[in-house]
Amino acid sequence: MSQNKSAEFVQGILDGNRRMIAKTMTLIESRLKEHRDLACKVMEKIMPHTGKSIRLGITGVPGVGKSTFIENLGVYLADQGHRVAVLAVDPSSQRSGGSILGDKTRMEKLSAHENAFIRPSPAGETLGGVAAKTREILAVCEAAGFDIILVETVGVGQSETSVASMVDFFLVLMIAGAGDELQGIKKGVLELADGIAINKADGDNIKAVGRTKTDLEIAMHLISPETPTWSTPVLTCSSVQEGGTKIVWDMVLDHHGKFKTSNEFALRRRKQSVEWMWTLVEDGLKQRFKNNEKIIQSIPKVTRQVENDKISPSAAAEILLSYL
Ligand code: GDP
Repeated sequence: MSQNKSAEFVQGILDGNRRMIAKTMTLIESRLKEHRDLACKVMEKIMPHTGKSIRLGITGVPGVGKSTFIENLGVYLADQGHRVAVLAVDPSSQRSGGSILGDKTRMEKLSAHENAFIRPSPAGETLGGVAAKTREILAVCEAAGFDIILVETVGVGQSETSVASMVDFFLVLMIAGAGDELQGIKKGVLELADGIAINKADGDNIKAVGRTKTDLEIAMHLISPETPTWSTPVLTCSSVQEGGTKIVWDMVLDHHGKFKTSNEFALRRRKQSVEWMWTLVEDGLKQRFKNNEKIIQSIPKVTRQVENDKISPSAAAEILLSYL
């Protein structure tokens, strides 16, 4: 029965049937075990059909213009005949049904476009959980024939690292004159960036944008590039002008071409898959540890022994781990 059911989902996804795509995503996001099991079967079968898109991650603090940017770029790409999926990673979203990120009402034109598909962030308690679901949703989109996947995240917390590890190009959006602190410019985020775009380069703002561009270029010189193939460009763009984000897409294509030629494209994806496997192994181990009856029973006693210096913390850890 479940075999037939999963086959129906797989066919629906491969046919690009929107209802089946959305239903599969609901299964992925479900907490019910039977839904998760079915989702697992579907995922396994669609894996050979995944991997054929360009994956672009986009981060930036609230107000920087992420959704305006995605609407602008998304419509530009969808008008060219690309099939564009927009996903979001926002672990702060506790509300069921998603978050402010990837909200359709903020991307009116794109959400109405026949070539586009927008999915808000899965709700979840932990970043790990949200990221896991987003990766599966991304795979579903690829199997359904979306050739460009945009993954949006807020520039706070650890979510940037998580998104950077699931995309081919990680774009950091900034605005002029807001100060480093306000923009959450941690060195770590700049190190993750494959490209930086200073948004709102229009009207009276153009001069200020120019100054920020110079400052950022200086800051980027202090970061040694990961590869001789690419050093992170700093561009300026406007998300409120038609074609105002084309320059950013041209940069993504330039990177894509160079990374394909040097084989770093495939290498990066392979590295990401292996890293992801280890993340899942760690999560799985933690989960098994937490759910292990013997461990649960032993914790109070072992904890007391450590508190009273009867055994060392490392011996105690060994005892608990030995039950796994
Ligand atoms: P988000 O919170 O990062 O998703 O930011 P929004 O996309 O909601 O944009 C925040 C505000 O900035 C909105 O009022 C937008 O209209 C405005 N905005 C976004 N991009 C641009 C731009 O390129 N130029 C100008 N002038 N305003 C912009």
